[in-house]
Amino acid sequence: MKRFVEQLDLAIESGEEGSLAGLSEEGPEAVKIMTIHAAKGLEFTYVFLVNLVDKRFPTIERKDPIEIPDGLIKETIPEGDVHLEEERRLFYVGVTRAKDGVFFTSADDYGGARKKKLSRFLHEIGFGEPARKTTIPKQASLLDDRFQDPLGAKLKKEAPSFEELLPHKFSFTQLKAFETCPYQYRFAHILKVPVRGKGVFSFGKSIHQTMKDFYTLVQKRLKPDLFTQENAETRPVVSLKEFMDLFEKNWIDEWYDSAAHMAERKTQGKKFLEEFYGKHANSLTSPKFLEQPFNIKIGEYTLKGVIDRVDVLERKKGGDSVEIIDYKTGRVPKSKRDADLEQLLIYAIASKEVFGDEPKKMTYYFLDDNQEFSFEPNDAEIRKVKERIRGTIDMIKTSDFKPTPSVHVCKNCDFKDICEYRVLS
Ligand code: SF4
Repeated sequence: MKRFVEQLDLAIESGEEGSLAGLSEEGPEAVKIMTIHAAKGLEFTYVFLVNLVDKRFPTIERKDPIEIPDGLIKETIPEGDVHLEEERRLFYVGVTRAKDGVFFTSADDYGGARKKKLSRFLHEIGFGEPARKTTIPKQASLLDDRFQDPLGAKLKKEAPSFEELLPHKFSFTQLKAFETCPYQYRFAHILKVPVRGKGVFSFGKSIHQTMKDFYTLVQKRLKPDLFTQENAETRPVVSLKEFMDLFEKNWIDEWYDSAAHMAERKTQGKKFLEEFYGKHANSLTSPKFLEQPFNIKIGEYTLKGVIDRVDVLERKKGGDSVEIIDYKTGRVPKSKRDADLEQLLIYAIASKEVFGDEPKKMTYYFLDDNQEFSFEPNDAEIRKVKERIRGTIDMIKTSDFKPTPSVHVCKNCDFKDICEYRVLS
């Protein structure tokens, strides 16, 4: 205890956690105190998870700094209580930091009038009597056998069926994650380990929401001619100032590497939106759909997604001829071979099978360059992409999620800090 207190004093004097980096390797008597977030990617011989009482872990504090509209999230939205699920995943991360043993501690009395109840996470893995009926979390049943309770009894192990662990609906992003590294897929879509945000996502969301708001105004103000159904106006129906105000309103300044990086991206974003406006303001058409969600059936599987924008090229009875537009923040590919067409081909399937339209033109709009990359889908390409999707989902269903590490994929992987197979050099 004396050594521990001395160590603690030293940590407090050092003023910041980083000054004592590497402490965990110093010897068996060294203790490192940290949040679970800070422990990601690290391992320790023994881990003590403390304060395991109701309302502390899971905490009742809910932090939602950025609310992203559901329609904009192309990923799987976790079902149930998102806060609770995140706390549960944190608990899982905490437990799995231990190499030899994990200790859970709690007390009846932390001050206050009432006796504290044990954390529901402890009940869920078989400790104590549950205060109320609780569902065994999927993560808990995935815990390694080596984590045992102090009396030597194995943690409760009630593995859900594999079918239960898999998402009910697949998305393009999920399939890409599996193709990139099955182990990454396991982290993201089976264990649902939460990840930090990234500047690139904040930027993409800011731009997408601005484009959506801009075209929503266009839809409101640009009424098609009653007889011809053509757009009646060719003058700008939304001013540049309104467009820039929307960008300002939708700007998300979280998760950038630095304030300077954030400012740089904001200036770039403004510039290419101004260029977009200059190029299109006099020839705007009212979109048929904006941020349109869909579910399509491919064999026995369901694939879900969201289409950024659908414009009508020609109105027809029995199905319009349409252009499907997906915004990209990045550089335009040099050729069709360099472009990943699969995402747009999935949208072409949705356009045909869900909305009854004829997808004539598929476009990636690269906002950084203000350039379009378009192609007309053909039946052979669509057939091929359906087969590929079915094949990938078949593989997911029978996979043991073996890692496929390489420097190229691991360095960009959200789970490299907690993945034991990472290859970073
Ligand atoms: S760090 Fe590498 S091996 Fe591990 S999950 Fe990510 S991509 Fe796969």
